[in-house]
Amino acid sequence: YKVKYAPYRNENQSIEGLIIVYQDITQEHNLDKMRKEFVANVSHELKTPITTIKSYTETLMIDDVDEAYKKKFLTVIDEECDRMSRLVSDLLQLSNIDYKKTKWNKEKLYINEIIEDIISKLKIMANEKNISMTFNSDKNYYTYADKDGLIQVFQNIIINSIKYTENNGYVKVNMTKEDPYVVVEIIDNGIGIPKEDIDRVFDRFYRVEKGRSRDLGGTGLGLSIAKEIIEAFDGKIQIESENLTGTIVKIKLPLLEEIIQESDNI
Ligand code: ADP
Repeated sequence: YKVKYAPYRNENQSIEGLIIVYQDITQEHNLDKMRKEFVANVSHELKTPITTIKSYTETLMIDDVDEAYKKKFLTVIDEECDRMSRLVSDLLQLSNIDYKKTKWNKEKLYINEIIEDIISKLKIMANEKNISMTFNSDKNYYTYADKDGLIQVFQNIIINSIKYTENNGYVKVNMTKEDPYVVVEIIDNGIGIPKEDIDRVFDRFYRVEKGRSRDLGGTGLGLSIAKEIIEAFDGKIQIESENLTGTIVKIKLPLLEEIIQESDNI
């Protein structure tokens, strides 16, 4: 609490009492703490690649570096630059969402087609790990959202499922109705998330295993961005998971229309 006080005077200006104001500053304090944590996180995330790049370039500047090593070091430098640029673009996107600068172009969208397109693009990535990918929908569904935003969210979630699933696993996307929503479930039989971490995976920069996520190119911002976007479309996103067994990400979007004909499952 912040306390302010002032004397209370009567009309003859003599002091008759004391006015005390207690101001609850818990919220301000929490915001300030969050801001500090955020800056600390960003600094740390940028410092890691910078340190790596610096040490590799210093080595490269010494003469007599073997050609094979040169190539290896340059590859690392290139990857670290990519990581920084992913981080910066994720941060920019979050700050645009925070300041409501993102202009969503909402329109009627045929979700079946959007998901089918994403899956066929990501099949190449899944094939490299021999992960099977399927899409099942009982009907053709329409929602009202921004197309690029929706593509980004589904892409992010499906890529996570591929990343956090071992070779020979599966990723299934199922779509059905839960009035007034159309529900898309992304199910994998991957490494899962321990119970104690589950509530925090939507937090900015939260990663269950920092090392593993970083090796896989993650920024720890993907799920928090996905949540902001889905909520901007009046939808919901939830995650259920069992450690070492698998994960289900459930995305609910406003149901605009459904067409009761068999969809072309892929
Ligand atoms: P990252 O860039 O690290 O993937 P995200 O915000 O997308 O960040 O996800 C946060 C964390 O949640 C990840 O670091 C990972 O530990 C965990 N996670 C997300 N999706 C899955 C999944 N399908 N299976 C297991 N863990 C997951």
